[in-house]
Amino acid sequence: MSAIPGQDLASLRRGACPSLPEPMQTGDGLLARLQPLAPLTLDQLAGLARLAADRGNGIIEVTARGKLQLRGLSAQTAPGLAEAVAALGIDVPQGFPVEVSALAGLDPSMRFDPRPLARAIGDGAAPLVPHLAPKASVVVDGGGLFRLGGLKADIGLTAGSGAAVRVALAGKACGEVDAKHAAAVVIALLERLAARGDSARMAELVAVEGIATLRAEFGLAPPLAASGEGVDPVGLHPLSDGSVALGIGLAFGQIRAVVLGELVAAAGRAGVARVEPAAGRALLLVGPAPEAAAELREVAAGLGLLTDPKDPRRRVYACAGQPACASARLDTHALAATLVPLLDGRDLHVSGCPKGCAHPSKAALTIVGLDEGAGLVVEGTPRDVPARIVPPAQLRETLQKDLA
Ligand code: SF4
Repeated sequence: MSAIPGQDLASLRRGACPSLPEPMQTGDGLLARLQPLAPLTLDQLAGLARLAADRGNGIIEVTARGKLQLRGLSAQTAPGLAEAVAALGIDVPQGFPVEVSALAGLDPSMRFDPRPLARAIGDGAAPLVPHLAPKASVVVDGGGLFRLGGLKADIGLTAGSGAAVRVALAGKACGEVDAKHAAAVVIALLERLAARGDSARMAELVAVEGIATLRAEFGLAPPLAASGEGVDPVGLHPLSDGSVALGIGLAFGQIRAVVLGELVAAAGRAGVARVEPAAGRALLLVGPAPEAAAELREVAAGLGLLTDPKDPRRRVYACAGQPACASARLDTHALAATLVPLLDGRDLHVSGCPKGCAHPSKAALTIVGLDEGAGLVVEGTPRDVPARIVPPAQLRETLQKDLA
């Protein structure tokens, strides 16, 4: 594995996450990921598009967790990227990064504002960062339109009963805690995790200790039933100030810098005040009046972006694939695009290899790249044993018969 100047060995350990100062090598160059602390202004988003074009291969991604990625950077262009992003006025977490649900403060259906709790956890857990697994994660879901419960997280917080916060560990409901003690409980849980070593994840702790033991140890009350699933961010969403948020989906989570530039220009004309990347590979354009948002939606559709939550491409998950990932045995995006017309409401996961980066859950149909060909898995994940393996060139024909 090659490293860029300034990259240390710790960042190269297996499972380390790419960041602005420490991008990750992929098949199409270095990849840098950022999680802005605040929604972006249009100028900041336009600036990111320029950085993606000037320093990378012009592809910007919004991940399933709502993080931004710039692809195709090089050893010459990656150094200084963090400073260039900072020069745009974009702040990224300096302590422990905590993910929050989108539209905090504007979503009238949100049960609580997740940002103060996320800040308290991020600051309190900052000294633990060197002792935690690089992918250790905490999400705080305010219980509004867009939910984070579906994300894999070591610790997940959602609105509980009354003033309580519901705590899930590695996706398993553990208990409830009064909101004013929630940050302290999360930090104590992270300390417990760090004490097990810098690769420990919550799923292992839960497997060893058991949920009931951890609930008692951290003084949690038994959890009540979980609340709803939330809605797809794609589409129009009324906000508490009378304006709307227009959610735009990105096919395969990607947008080209030039298209993003056009979207930003149209958003400016429509009165968009800010843009939030959202979990579910989407951008939320916040602040236009409803009529202007409807027009902007047409413009976005004309740019090839996904503006209807029923668009079948919303149900297609594809990882970077060939040529972007060295592990890939399939050109996942090209393959997925040819299969969309066959789906008829089914969800599809096309994975370049069994790792399954794009979609950790089951899908109605999964196609996984293997050395022997394309594996077909029904109602499973790329790690499951395929029902059969076919040459990639025969896949469309095979599925046309199978799905008819
Ligand atoms: S699933 Fe495999 S091929 Fe796809 S991006 Fe992840 S490691 Fe690469």
